[in-house]
Amino acid sequence: MLLKNKVAIITGGSSGIGLATAKRFAKEGAKVVIAGRDQKKGENALKDIPEAIFVATDVQKEADLQKLVAETIKKFGQIDIVFNNAGRISTLEEDITTMPVADFHETMETNFTSVFLLTRLAIPYLLKTKGCIVNTASVLGLKPDMYDPIYCSSKAAIVMFTKTMALKYARDGVRVNCVCPGPIDTPLLRDAYGHDERDLKEGMKRNPMGRMGTSEEVANLVYFLASPEASYMTGSIVSVDGGTALK
Ligand code: NAD
Repeated sequence: MLLKNKVAIITGGSSGIGLATAKRFAKEGAKVVIAGRDQKKGENALKDIPEAIFVATDVQKEADLQKLVAETIKKFGQIDIVFNNAGRISTLEEDITTMPVADFHETMETNFTSVFLLTRLAIPYLLKTKGCIVNTASVLGLKPDMYDPIYCSSKAAIVMFTKTMALKYARDGVRVNCVCPGPIDTPLLRDAYGHDERDLKEGMKRNPMGRMGTSEEVANLVYFLASPEASYMTGSIVSVDGGTALK
């Protein structure tokens, strides 16, 4: 129970990696605040997670993020952990001249601007608790994919933002780290493959371990980074990808 009585905000917390992490944090004693857009999905998520609350949040909207922080403080009085995890894939498009500009903005806002905004709002509370932040980037924030330049760039921005924030707040006792998942079996990955099982299987053959990871395998790492076990880690960019970054 290393997270006993810690209060953790998780964006994109009602599915995939976010939900697995919410369950793991709760198992370790944390009080979890799940932030997501879909009320129904959020309420479903709460069924298995004691003491958790759901706050309807579109991370593209600053006002929603302000409400998320305000409701967390109102309910639990403090913030110890922020897991910036909500994300979307952009339209897979090789040709920059036909790439929709609106898609660029939506991807950057969802994946990166939201991390900047929530960090900004939560930091005064994290300074009080000597808390920590974990961000979800991607293996695609470390290496390029020519079909997905916007997603890759949004995730690379998270990597650098993690390092700058880690440097800034190291002496204040606030740690900031980042996970870089490879292919993980979640709705987001299945959407990217157009729900085509055969394509997905073929794609996974290129992974050094030959398979997708599970959300729980990522949650194990997020939990470790958020726990006191990682007390000397800040600014770390840690892959959890079955070796994808090696190729
Ligand atoms: P997922 O689809 O289960 O989770 C993404 C969550 O983000 C969803 O709950 C979605 O509703 C939420 N979200 C998207 N836009 C939002 C918005 N504007 N406001 C609030 N919530 C929003 O997929 P996942 O794979 O668990 O994704 C979690 C994170 O992991 C994402 O940042 C994703 O980019 C990253 N990631 C996933 C993989 C993978 O293969 N699955 C690989 C690398 C990185």
